[in-house]
Amino acid sequence: MAEKIQCLIIGSGPAGYTAAIYAARADLKPVVYEGLQPGGQLTITTEIDNFPGYPEGINGTEMMEDLKKQAQRFGTDVRMGMITTVDFSQRPFKIIADGKHEILADAVIIATGASARWLGIESEAKFNGAGVSACATCDGFFYRGKEVAIVGGGDTAAEEATYLSKLCSKVTMIIRRDELRASKAMQQKVFDTPNIEVLWNHVTKEIVGDQTVNGVIVENVKTGETKRVNISGFFVAIGHKPNTDLFKGQLDMDENNYLITAPNSTKTNIEGVFAAGDVQDHIFRQAITAAGSGCMAAIETERFLSNVSQTH
Ligand SMILES: Cc1cc2nc3c(=O)[nH]c(=O)nc-3n(C[C@H](O)[C@H](O)[C@H](O)COP(=O)(O)OP(=O)(O)OC[C@H]3O[C@@H](n4cnc5c(N)ncnc54)[C@H](O)[C@@H]3O)c2cc1C
Repeated sequence: MAEKIQCLIIGSGPAGYTAAIYAARADLKPVVYEGLQPGGQLTITTEIDNFPGYPEGINGTEMMEDLKKQAQRFGTDVRMGMITTVDFSQRPFKIIADGKHEILADAVIIATGASARWLGIESEAKFNGAGVSACATCDGFFYRGKEVAIVGGGDTAAEEATYLSKLCSKVTMIIRRDELRASKAMQQKVFDTPNIEVLWNHVTKEIVGDQTVNGVIVENVKTGETKRVNISGFFVAIGHKPNTDLFKGQLDMDENNYLITAPNSTKTNIEGVFAAGDVQDHIFRQAITAAGSGCMAAIETERFLSNVSQTH
């Protein structure tokens, strides 16, 4: 038999758990499905230095454990498992967890995040968190005064390269083609920055180091020549994939498959379905902004549910 609940939260990152804290304190008895990555993306990083409230910084996994405990303290039902099907065409919404458990939910908060795209080479995984990063805003600080490389030729890569150039002594941009995809204005910023060197027509063969990264081997795709560039940090900026496959055909998405929410709101195009965190934010993608929008989603859910109950 289907389980009936008021508020389902899909995802257990900062957005999902913040939504859960607020929803539980509003007595919505939220159920959180953790998904394949309990605690979300922060659990694959070590030190979080920019989340307010931790003057000494905090380990990502520990921080997410804290958020989970805080959500549970107010009665959030946190479950291992994946949401595998959603049907927003009927009310209450019909949701299937793990391919078998049917849930009927009055409101749904989607906080499924966006995963960074990686190059897929072995050494990238080996040094992930030990010199390899997919977030310059998060990790650039650790490479102050050092030399770094960044892969990617779009707007984000160009923006992250200029951000890193202010912290690092030198930034090498590794570009597969002989042009950048970034907007003309962003390209100009890159070209005008003296400590950014662009390596045109190059691809990454291998990231090298001992305990942490100390170099990258690149190959010139035109000549086949390889060379080593000495670096301490390697940034991957080749895009993100929002985890929205589940919602295709039901919720409005932009051209990169991020969920579209109303301005200053977490409302999607379906009343009663809200989206928070990286799944609807291709601009900031930070833990604190994800948490902030999780709070907004829970408040909007509470208002939605109280309006619904008043009309019944
Ligand atoms: C290596 C790295 C380092 C970072 N460092 C920092 C930092 O120092 N400071 C900072 O502010 N930000 C940092 N970030 C960015 C930060 O992690 C994200 O902005 C933040 O985690 C987004 O939170 P979220 O809740 O939107 O999504 P996520 O944290 O991505 O969580 C998504 C959740 O959804 C779940 N999920 C997905 N699909 C389903 C499904 N079908 N059913 C159930 N659950 C599902 C996943 O299991 C996961 O729990 C870093 C990111 C990375 C990758």
